[in-house]
Amino acid sequence: MFIGHFAAGMIAKKIQPATSLGTFFLAAQFLDLLWPTLLVLGVEHVVISPGISAVTPLDFVDYPISHSLLVVLGWSLILGVIYYLITKNKNSALLLGALVLSHWVLDLIVHIPDLPLYPGTSPKVGFGLWNSPVLTILLEGLIFITGIIVYKNAKKSQGEPVTWKFWSLIGFLLVIHIMNLVGPPPPDVTAIAWAGHLQWLFVWWAWWADKRS
Ligand SMILES: [Zn+2]
Repeated sequence: MFIGHFAAGMIAKKIQPATSLGTFFLAAQFLDLLWPTLLVLGVEHVVISPGISAVTPLDFVDYPISHSLLVVLGWSLILGVIYYLITKNKNSALLLGALVLSHWVLDLIVHIPDLPLYPGTSPKVGFGLWNSPVLTILLEGLIFITGIIVYKNAKKSQGEPVTWKFWSLIGFLLVIHIMNLVGPPPPDVTAIAWAGHLQWLFVWWAWWADKRS
């Protein structure tokens, strides 16, 4: 899943409007921000295997630190605690922790059974929506549109406009999403890892777009 995770961040804005959308994006996409670094370090592994599922050529053979449920619960706790120590905002801290976990739950829906429950020889889970491009596009599109509507309403109730900065972010996310769906498979794992790091741009972009003008 890609744009669906960002939608989770947009929905969070409605619940805790004082926290930046950039912070919510960081939490909602934290596992996929961590993953490329772990690939570069050789700690986690992915194999390019076109046809492994209908939607992505990536075979997530080994990613227990970024995507096993047990460790994800740990990341969720760590991010929540760090945020609380910095801001003393308990409700936002809880929400950020929940967002980190939401990533795994949303991945669970689309991934083929490749998500481990814990590091080591764990059973792997995944409901496999990626076997159907149509259902994947519909579900993720629906989640994304919901996120945009909820975010717009949240900003409106704060008396703040949604500016071109936000819409340019949405446009860029959609372009990347479509390229992921219809583009050729990545040339190699190094390219995946470096492209993955570009996702930090979305965190910064969301912070910039959400800032009170
Ligand atoms: Zn993920």
